[in-house]
Amino acid sequence: MDDNVWLDRREVPVIVVHGGAWVKPGIVTEPVLEGLQRAAEAGFAVLDRGGMALDAVEAAVVVLEEDPHFNAGRGSTLTSDGTVEMDASMMDGRTLDAGAVASVAGVRNPIRLARRVLHDSDHLLLAGEGAQRFARGHGVEMAPVDWHVTPEQRARFEELKQEAGARPDRRKLGTVGAVAADVHGHVAAATSTGGTAFKRPGRVGDSPLIGAGTYADDTSGAASATGHGESIIKVVLTKTACDLMGSGKSPLEASKEAVSLLGSRARGEGGIILVSPDGRAGWAMNTPRMSRALFRRGMPGPIARV
Ligand code: ASP
Repeated sequence: MDDNVWLDRREVPVIVVHGGAWVKPGIVTEPVLEGLQRAAEAGFAVLDRGGMALDAVEAAVVVLEEDPHFNAGRGSTLTSDGTVEMDASMMDGRTLDAGAVASVAGVRNPIRLARRVLHDSDHLLLAGEGAQRFARGHGVEMAPVDWHVTPEQRARFEELKQEAGARPDRRKLGTVGAVAADVHGHVAAATSTGGTAFKRPGRVGDSPLIGAGTYADDTSGAASATGHGESIIKVVLTKTACDLMGSGKSPLEASKEAVSLLGSRARGEGGIILVSPDGRAGWAMNTPRMSRALFRRGMPGPIARV
């Protein structure tokens, strides 16, 4: 069946996940597709038993953070100093409550920390050492700093270091994200990343920024973005896409329009996944590929694409 038939259905619950734009042609994609399917299943299991969209997107993103094939959590890219600095955020469409962390290291699952920031802090976004201290103080699971570093990412770092004047590598990313609409009509979104490879230490992209990398509002829909963060921030991509849904566009139309704006106004490359509170979903990218999966009631299992 054509993917759009599954995407455009008004039926809840539904979850959509992505594993980043930029999956290069020629790379082995089976583990990526399997990882996305497992993530969609984990999120859908929460929704299927009547759980909340916010719990579902967290569960899905945790699966992808644990999977070394994605640039989030374990498998994160390295900065030009050879260190890991992760960003993550999540948003609850019921209340517009959001939690985010930027430039964190040694936190096993940054999305779980974002969740604690959402519930247990008076703030929305915590960064660096302060965020890590908050994590330790709130019983968030930590990991040795190099637990997140995989041999593949270390090798890539060494390669980039050899290139004279190496700049952040925008072409090999695998940021992860999830959006869901639950049976109660609520939506939520979550995004997690190691950021661009060989980024300058201290660089923060779109993923922890509400409105740029992540947005959710029960009056319009939920969105998670991937791609060139500096461009995504300029067009406030996820809020723009949600506003388009709020003005009556379907998630499929809104995703295409938002990504086209990213290209035309910011000359940026990337992609986006969307759901509306009535359960319709959409995805679009202006990169050659974006890995993604969809699982909704009525499907025998998730469909995953790259
Ligand atoms: N948007 C992320 C960033 O710029 C990277 C990505 O989506 O792959 O940090």
